Amino acid sequence: MNIGLVAHDSKKKLMQNFCIAYRGILSKNNLYATGTTGRLVEEASNLTVHKYLSGHLGGTQQLGAQIEQNEIDLVIFLRDPLNVKSNEPDVNNIVRLCDAHNIPLATNLATAELLVKSLDRGDLEWREMYK
Ligand code: PGA
Repeated sequence: MNIGLVAHDSKKKLMQNFCIAYRGILSKNNLYATGTTGRLVEEASNLTVHKYLSGHLGGTQQLGAQIEQNEIDLVIFLRDPLNVKSNEPDVNNIVRLCDAHNIPLATNLATAELLVKSLDRGDLEWREMYK
């Protein structure tokens, strides 16, 4: 499965720790991330990550384009809920695209954990049929 990862600055450490904790599951999948998030995840977890441009240079749009092409099976977007104004457009766009294409999306750690555990159990295998 192809997993999209984005973390706003205040959530990058959390994303690193999440990827270390679930390294075993994540390593069986393909990871796609915005530039800085991807680099930090690679450094912390030694996972291989396909890196888009940095979020503010268009990386979030690149992820959006892949969702539109039905190439992403699960998105973990750890957004900063306290910095709503500046981050809203990119979050909203990813949420909209995931809803349009019925892609599982986590915007916080609790949901992210549920999704990777269900991914590991095979609960997302319907995505393969979908493609
Ligand atoms: P980044 O992008 O991973 O390149 O920082 C995410 C963001 O927009 O904060």
